[in-house]
Amino acid sequence: MNCFRSKIVIIGAGWAGFILSQQLNDTTYDITIIAPHQTFAYTPLLASAATGLFFSRLAEEPIRRAHRRTTYYRALATAADFTKQTVTCIPSVLQPSGRDVPDAEHPFTIEYEILIIAPGCVNQTFDTPGAAEHCFFLKTVPDAEAIKAKILSLLEVASLPTTTPERAKELLHVAVVGGGPTGVELSAELTDLFNEMSKTYPHLAGIPSITIHDVAPEILGVFHEKLKVHALQSFKKHDVEVKTNSHIEKIEEGALYTKEDGRISAGMVAWATGNKQCDFVDSLPGISRAARLGRILTDQRLRTLKEDQTVLENVYALGDAADIFGKSLPTTAEGQITVAVQKAEYLVKTLNRHPALPAKPFVYKQRRMVAYVGGTDGVIMGRQDWTGEAAWLAWRSGSLGWTRSWRRKGMIMASWAWNFIGGREIARK
Ligand SMILES: Cc1cc2nc3c(=O)[nH]c(=O)nc-3n(C[C@H](O)[C@H](O)[C@H](O)COP(=O)(O)OP(=O)(O)OC[C@H]3O[C@@H](n4cnc5c(N)ncnc54)[C@H](O)[C@@H]3O)c2cc1C
Repeated sequence: MNCFRSKIVIIGAGWAGFILSQQLNDTTYDITIIAPHQTFAYTPLLASAATGLFFSRLAEEPIRRAHRRTTYYRALATAADFTKQTVTCIPSVLQPSGRDVPDAEHPFTIEYEILIIAPGCVNQTFDTPGAAEHCFFLKTVPDAEAIKAKILSLLEVASLPTTTPERAKELLHVAVVGGGPTGVELSAELTDLFNEMSKTYPHLAGIPSITIHDVAPEILGVFHEKLKVHALQSFKKHDVEVKTNSHIEKIEEGALYTKEDGRISAGMVAWATGNKQCDFVDSLPGISRAARLGRILTDQRLRTLKEDQTVLENVYALGDAADIFGKSLPTTAEGQITVAVQKAEYLVKTLNRHPALPAKPFVYKQRRMVAYVGGTDGVIMGRQDWTGEAAWLAWRSGSLGWTRSWRRKGMIMASWAWNFIGGREIARK
């Protein structure tokens, strides 16, 4: 290790932390990354991975890179001491199931000169009874794998001679809670999957169903009215039921309960209702927080602010976990990556440049917002609104844009070609 390099610790390897870990100058900085999974997830590709459009491995990127002089610890940061300049962590141990288990018995502490906080957010269940235990989430590649395995299992159980047609209907009903971009895209991908699966499971054709529940009076809240209407019409065409003003009361194995309809059988309940801060961010002492979501507040150079709004030296925060004081940026799923990426690229430039040069404030550039609604249809909100096949094509090509590795871009394109010729791999299992 070069003792002349300043020690930077990056907490989190998502859109913000991963870019920093890859682009910070590793001859100037001794970089340490703390993250509980050893890969970075391309989140917009997770719904496609969950429904077998391509192998899940293509929706993630390894954090360890042979050519980078960085240190990676597969761990969770649990506390930071800004006076001693240390971060306390606990190992995150990979289990044979593919899930990680935190090991609180073996904590360790590392020192930093510069700290970058980017742990993203965790799923918000609003303390709905049974949601954490029985719902499927879509934040990581193991989540996508779990959804895929559950769908395949439901299709097989529904095919058994002991399963009545009524029971098959219940089993193959997927309820998606949350009508934002993530819930909408997962529903769209599931629609495509069930259509394709009807060739492999012809005896189940017409039986699977999908319902989107949202407590709000509409889905895709951030999109223009015309696009919301288009999405609704498209879902109607594909027999996806949309239940707005639907209040989820509890979830249990095989069912959800709403205030309006009581018990509804569902083989799978997918939960996509937004984010809340992780325990680590909640635990940080003496920092300024946004009223909404409790995000860490920074100045326009992404420097963390103390409770009295002065700068906490050498501590930066970005991504879903942070917001700029007085200049709040998108907190809805669409557009967040753009914010996280633009902030990460800004910080790379700031930290890689000569320290004597003053940094310009961060300026966000608005990009278009896209959502896939199934069956070669999509909606795009930008300078101009688009719908239909052109929007779907733009969304599909955008999937390639998310991937930062040429190898993965090539493999995703090859998967699309094979799917076109012989159906997706999941339907051939
Ligand atoms: C399915 C899905 C689809 C999405 N699609 C879009 C889209 O199309 N467009 C868009 O703009 N946005 C989209 N989003 C939102 C987008 O993914 C987030 O805004 C973005 O990931 C935020 O980046 P981040 O680096 O702050 O956090 P994340 O990408 O969530 O990364 C956080 C990282 O921190 C790690 N971590 C968490 N806690 C700790 C801890 N205590 N210690 C150490 N590490 C920790 C995590 O494991 C992860 O590595 C989508 C989100 C999901 C879930």
